[in-house]
Amino acid sequence: MKTSLLALAAVLLLGVTPALGHGGVQLGPNGGRILELSKNETVHGEVTAKDGFFHIALLDTKMKPVELKDQTLTATTGDRKKPEKLVVEKKDGKFVVPMQKGDEFLTIFQFRDSPSARPVTARLTYDATLCSACKNAEWLCKCPSDKERK
Ligand SMILES: [Zn+2]
Repeated sequence: MKTSLLALAAVLLLGVTPALGHGGVQLGPNGGRILELSKNETVHGEVTAKDGFFHIALLDTKMKPVELKDQTLTATTGDRKKPEKLVVEKKDGKFVVPMQKGDEFLTIFQFRDSPSARPVTARLTYDATLCSACKNAEWLCKCPSDKERK
């Protein structure tokens, strides 16, 4: 991705927290990708990848851990022609979802804060390509810019 020093300076000057920036990818306290899991930014998911699984921890407005109780998460593959449901487990206070194969894919999550809550849909584009600027994989790219995927 192209990094503009000017854009970086603007972000610093405005005091925008990278984790809450709306330009690029949002990263959480553990370096994971932040997914918005509510309509009003009260629940976030922090996605990290480990051994072929996504681990999704819940965070509150202040990016503090939220206890995993009766919240539920479903996940499907992003293949529109043949969407496939993924098996979501709860483990060590996190949701654990098997990653699809390949270096680039889309996973669609549906989160409910409680059994009666309306589901909130979040999309995660996984991209293992390394960003030349920040050396993170693109799906965890920290570069402050309006990153738009084709
Ligand atoms: Zn980057």
